[in-house]
Amino acid sequence: MVKFCLQCKNAFWGGQYCPKCEGEIELLDAALPENKKYLPELNIDVRPKYYARSSMLLSCFGFVMALPLGAFIFLRGISSSDNLLLWGSLGIGTVVLVSWGCWYLSHRLFDKQMEAVESKDKELQLD
Ligand SMILES: [Zn+2]
Repeated sequence: MVKFCLQCKNAFWGGQYCPKCEGEIELLDAALPENKKYLPELNIDVRPKYYARSSMLLSCFGFVMALPLGAFIFLRGISSSDNLLLWGSLGIGTVVLVSWGCWYLSHRLFDKQMEAVESKDKELQLD
């Protein structure tokens, strides 16, 4: 959940009060429709946060799914024939291909989405 402070124009991950401002300045939720009107005023651009999150999900999905998929192909193949080298290399190849492919795709996806982000007068929030 991205929240922002109207006083210092910074954005934060959650929290109720601004950690940078003195006193208890309430943070506003960036996702709420009534707060959308303030977003162009902010000093930072919150879009990279969302883009990075979708890319992370994709690469994480690839790394998580690659091993079971490779193991499935290997076990399925080895149960129908005794060609260990063939099914072993197919299984390992699947693990490498799926995890690398998802990592590569998430990188491409992030770069593609970031093309629309102008970074001249705003600080990108990438943390
Ligand atoms: Zn603040």
